[in-house]
Amino acid sequence: MWSLPSDLAPRRRKAPANGWQLIAQGQIDRAFRQGKRTFAAAQAEGEVTGMATGLMQVAWCCALLGHPEQGLECALAAKRLWRRAGNETGFASTAAIEAFLLFDLGLSDEGSEAAEQAVMIAARLEDFSVLAFASCMRAIALALCGHAELSIPVIRESIRIAEQNGDKASLCFYQLNMGFCLGRLAAGEEAAGKVGHARDLLGQAIEVSEDAIASATESGNNWCLRVALGNVAEMYAHCGDLERAQKRLETWQEVPGRPGVSLKIHYLYTRSTVLMRLGQLPDAAKAASEALRLANRSGQTDHQLNAAGKLAEVHEAMKDFRSALTMHKRFHKLYVKQAGETTQRRAKVAEIRLETDRLRARADELANQAMRDGLTGIANRRAFDAELAQLEGKVFAVAMLDLDHFKAINDRFSHMVGDEVLRRLARGLTAHSGAWAARLGGEEFALLLCGEEAVRGAERLCEKVRAAVEGHQWTELAPELKVTVSIGLAISEGGKTAADLMAVADRRLYAAKATGRNRVVANDYAVVTALPRAAQGGRGA
Ligand code: GH3
Ligand code: MG
Ligand code: MG
Repeated sequence: MWSLPSDLAPRRRKAPANGWQLIAQGQIDRAFRQGKRTFAAAQAEGEVTGMATGLMQVAWCCALLGHPEQGLECALAAKRLWRRAGNETGFASTAAIEAFLLFDLGLSDEGSEAAEQAVMIAARLEDFSVLAFASCMRAIALALCGHAELSIPVIRESIRIAEQNGDKASLCFYQLNMGFCLGRLAAGEEAAGKVGHARDLLGQAIEVSEDAIASATESGNNWCLRVALGNVAEMYAHCGDLERAQKRLETWQEVPGRPGVSLKIHYLYTRSTVLMRLGQLPDAAKAASEALRLANRSGQTDHQLNAAGKLAEVHEAMKDFRSALTMHKRFHKLYVKQAGETTQRRAKVAEIRLETDRLRARADELANQAMRDGLTGIANRRAFDAELAQLEGKVFAVAMLDLDHFKAINDRFSHMVGDEVLRRLARGLTAHSGAWAARLGGEEFALLLCGEEAVRGAERLCEKVRAAVEGHQWTELAPELKVTVSIGLAISEGGKTAADLMAVADRRLYAAKATGRNRVVANDYAVVTALPRAAQGGRGA
């Protein structure tokens, strides 16, 4: 078994009520329930980060408990939430968990992609504990895809980071998987006939797995401890050191707490191997049968397949060829079933991803719509406010534009013509003004200019816009149609808030209306002259 991890690094300490600590102590069941509670509580509050944290925890617990399909759904949902929250660390950590779940489902290529994604993001963020975790997944992917030799330096780096951080709980997980990668490499060399090198590598695999046992014991990570003990027992059995293999399996049984079903099956399977080598065939058969019973109960084909294969082997060793044949047939059927399931899973994962992309595109579209004006397609009031907030404290200018006597245009030429005037004006402002334009509502628009140079040319620009509106061939739209615009301009002189500046621009627009329309007001001189009249008749009177 290529092992599962135990504890993950990202922002563990920040997780509520020590969920990740529970995992680090191998209390996966409790951590699973707690993750679900975290999710439910956050969901009730509509709190996205809490929901993502809870789901990520549940996904990891599912991985450790051997429920990869359920885990994958949680991981994908958590990724969506992290994205929504704009939390890249959470996203990268969850992508690494997703990779692990995909490996467990036999989807190495897909898992490899997820691991690459996690590594890239973590590296960009320079978040080294997440990077170590993601790199470990990448190493597993390499080992599973037949490049075990490339996996070793990658996972060595994960170990180095965990050592440097004094993070024992993660360290044992990385050591465990280093053992796995070295074991895969050894098996490859052995198959290629390089027996000496293979033995050497297996020795290294054993050594690092023993390190994992020590780190897991020290950090109290019982999940890692069990996996490492099972793995190392299998390795000892492979080298013929049956005494040590047995000892490790005995220790396995003494580890406190309940193992998950996957770990139990792995243990029984390994125990059967060791007993068979020791010639204790009836006991070996008993262990393999028990493994098969648990595997059948779990309903997981991968477990059933391994257990059936092992039992067939034991029957053969016992020269019970009839039973061996029955088991071989069963193995074959399971093998075919597993291949079918892998294809189905692959399709399902692709479907979930497609759905995720579709949802994301739809969300982007909705977000985009929320920032656009329906009639003209340019930025709306909401987008304008957001843009304005960004300019706070900078050198910038705001111009407010209002069409003159627009109500009369509607009344005389129809609303449809009025709409087309608004569209043309919007198009002209975005295409030719060189400023950032928005429709604030009705027949009011705004321009934003940022930077010293743009601000210096702001008044000239406003005058150009005013003249362009006046000079446009409006008669194309309707005979005798004339359109003009009044503009109030305000320039930030530092110390003024965006809201202050808007008020100044508004005041000057008001003055432009009051002093005859079709003009630009860029200072308060006109405002002062406009005041008495405004007081008498209001704007536009
Ligand atoms: P002033 O020169 O003082 O600005 O006069 P005005 O007529 O332009 O100003 P007022 O605020 O009295 O009228 C604005 C008009 O704009 C009233 C409303 O029917 C029209 N309007 C607002 N939104 C739209 C729209 O989306 N399409 C059209 N066609 N007209 C609109
Ligand atoms: Mg108006
Ligand atoms: Mg108007």
